[in-house]
This record gives sequence, structure tokens and C-alpha cells, in this order.
Amino acid sequence: MFRGLLIDKQDGPQTAVVQDLSEASLPEGDVTVRVAWSTLNYKDALAITGRSPVVRRFPMVPGIDFAGVVESSADPAWQPGDAVLLNGWGVGETRWGGLAERARVPGRWLIALPAAFDARQAMGIGTAGYTAALCVLALERHGLAPGQGPVLVTGAAGGVGSVAVALLARRGHEVVALTGRPQEEDFLRGLGASQVIARAELDRPGRPLEKERWAGAVDVVGGQVLASVCAAMRYGGTVAACGLAGGMSWPATVAPFILRGVTLAGIDSVMAPIEARQQAWARLSSDLDPALLERLLREIALDEAVALAPELLDGRVRGRLVVRI
Ligand code: NDP
Repeated sequence: MFRGLLIDKQDGPQTAVVQDLSEASLPEGDVTVRVAWSTLNYKDALAITGRSPVVRRFPMVPGIDFAGVVESSADPAWQPGDAVLLNGWGVGETRWGGLAERARVPGRWLIALPAAFDARQAMGIGTAGYTAALCVLALERHGLAPGQGPVLVTGAAGGVGSVAVALLARRGHEVVALTGRPQEEDFLRGLGASQVIARAELDRPGRPLEKERWAGAVDVVGGQVLASVCAAMRYGGTVAACGLAGGMSWPATVAPFILRGVTLAGIDSVMAPIEARQQAWARLSSDLDPALLERLLREIALDEAVALAPELLDGRVRGRLVVRI
């Protein structure tokens, strides 16, 4: 038996309770991992609260990330004792995930824990931080280089946003942080933002093309904010769009794309190929200062995850929640 958070839904509303689970209930897979740390991401909070249909089958152990040690392996790539981590691939959505003491997955989904981080730090980064790295790499692939102008990060005080601010600043970009929480200004400046602007400034309808402001942007908000960001991109700039914290649909026009050559780069972390994952974790290893990472982290116990999920969805959590399993 092992302890884990189980979401269940039978006839009534869904339940989410930490309980004893049997190893026999783990899904098929060639590697069993003793999970040491996991995280609470936005998607995990959606799963735990049931606010969006993230969970595709019940009962489900949520947790789209985990880090731990291989307990047993039928995959020659992994030996018992290897330190590993996993992000995405549908764990915590279609198959049991990381908010439990054991997880079983196909070995090809795992990556070796980077030497730069211990398991707790890697989960402090988690899918949110690894997605931030995918966003930064996408901006660079489309030509963004330091010195070209301000780079905007929306939802900056959240998980993806805060890591994106830190990574971009480290590369020498002038980072502008958009937040709905002005009280987080010192925190964001501490991560490297040179300017902090209020969410309300972009969360309102504007013209199809606004004054050119941003050389690049990382957007976690979607909705009106994404439309406003696109309208104010400089000629040839790129927006890496990865989130929907402010809404799924967006009231935009094609003007920025057809008149300013703006690129909208979509970012998906769940099914990203292994090479992209390795590249993102290499960037995090080289550019994310572990001391800075500590400032982003708030450590919680597995038993606290259920209570904190609504707070995270309501945008009241700063940085990253790392879960001690
Ligand atoms: P967090 O909750 O940590 O951060 C989201 C931030 O967005 C909040 O901190 C807040 O920032 C801002 N925000 C929240 N609600 C609203 C709102 N109604 N309008 C505008 N801004 C809002 O979540 P994560 O950083 O973990 O995830 C952010 C988004 O990215 C989510 O939508 C998530 O689903 C998505 N995501 C996508 C991935 C992918 O693979 N594409 C992977 C990981 C995440 P502030 O207070 O600073 O304004």
C-alpha cells in the first residue's frame, strides 16, 4: 500500500481525499518510481477542484509532475536508484499521476534529474517552469535576442510567469512584468523585471494595432490580455502563448499578423518531444539560479493540496507550490 491523493466521482460531486492505495491499482508501465516531491500546477488545481474536465477517468491520482527514485524497472535505460523526473504526458489526467508515493509509467517518458537540481528544486520548477523555458526557447527560435526591446511576461507572479521573468532577465532581456497583484512588485523586480505594469492596462478592449511596444512576449493569460499583447507587438515580434488563466477565447483581429509580421507561437508542454524537454531542462539548469528558485517556492504537505487548489485558481498563490510526498 502507499499514500496518495485520489479524486473520485460516482453519482454525486467529485471527491478528493488523501488515502491508502494499493500497488495493484497502479497503471501499466515498465518503470515504478518512489515519488519524493510533486507540485501543484494550475492544471492540478483544475483537476482537484473539478472546475475543468482535466481528469478523463475516475478514480484518478492527480499530479502532472513528479520527481523521485526508480524503484523497479523493466526498461534497460533505467536502474533502481536512478533519480528521475516526469512532466506531463497525460499523467494526472488520463493515468495516475504524481501526487502519491508511487507512480508507474513507460520509461521513455522519464528524464534523468538534472545535476543542477535536487528533486525538491526540480519540482519547484515543475511543468510551470519547464513550460516557461519552452516559451523562452520558442521566442529565441523566432529571432528574439537581448537588446531588441522590452519583453512582456503576463501573469508574471504565477508559476510560469515568475520563472519566465527570471529566465529572460538572466539572458539580458529587458523584462516587463504584467500582474494583477501590485503588491508583488518587489518580488518581480527581485526576479529581474525592470518594470512592473498593472494587468488592467491590457485587460481592456483596444484597437487592432496599438503603438509598437513589445519585442517579444510570454503569455499565460489568454483572453483579452493576449489580444492586447498581440496588438502592441513590434514589427516581426513573437508571442509565446501557453495559458488561459484569463480565458480560452480571445477577441483579436489578424492585423498584427498580416500587417506587422507578428508570430504567435503555441506552446504545449504535455506532449512535447523528449528533445524539447531536454533542451528546456538544460536551459533551466544553466539559467535558473537555485537561490532565486528558493524565493519562488512554497513547500506544502500532500494533505494541504486540496485546500490550496482553489487559492491557486483564484490567482492568490505566488510562484510555485512544491508538494512533499
Ligand atoms: P498560476 O496560477 O501559478 O499563475 C497564473 C497567473 O495568471 C496568476 O498568478 C495571475 O498572475 C494570472 N491570472 C490569474 N487569473 C487571471 C485572470 N482572470 N485574468 C488575468 N490574469 C490572471 O498558474 P501557472 O503559472 O501554473 O499556469 C498559467 C497558465 O499556463 C494556466 O492557464 C495553465 O493552464 C497554463 N499552462 C500551460 C501549459 C502548456 O503546456 N501550454 C503548461 C503549464 C501551464 P498575476 O497575479 O501576476 O496577474
